[in-house]
Amino acid sequence: MSGKTTTIPVKKGIALVAHDHKKGHLMEWAAYNKEKLKKHELYATGTTGKMLEEKVGLNINRFLSGPLGGDQQIGAKIVDGTINFLVFFWDPLEPQPHDPDVKALLRIAAVWNIPIACNRASADFLFTSVLMDSDYEKHTDDFRTYMDREIK
Ligand code: PGA
Repeated sequence: MSGKTTTIPVKKGIALVAHDHKKGHLMEWAAYNKEKLKKHELYATGTTGKMLEEKVGLNINRFLSGPLGGDQQIGAKIVDGTINFLVFFWDPLEPQPHDPDVKALLRIAAVWNIPIACNRASADFLFTSVLMDSDYEKHTDDFRTYMDREIK
């Protein structure tokens, strides 16, 4: 298969984001997984990151709050390869002012084929994967074909 492989190393760049009604779930999940999370470089949107620092005691690289552009900042770090793992507890029952940014973040994570956990169960499954403790060669499509497409 044509394309490109990139290594997701043992020490991963993990982004943590939760919408307001899901923040409690993320704090509980992060507290339970605190020792595992500490082995990685952690990033978060503004409010989520502040809570992870104050309530869970994790060191977080904090971006702006999601509605102020934090989701897009995380997306940019996925594109440049700094962030290669996303835990995003988005709220399916609440309209969000930054809904286009939420979609954009999920979209760009899919484009770059990084693991995404959108709820607690999937975060549990991902975090107990043997791949958490090893390098992983992730495949992305060959975007040169797209870049070289002919525009008339
Ligand atoms: P917040 O942003 O952590 O600043 O609340 C989360 C989001 O809505 O993307």
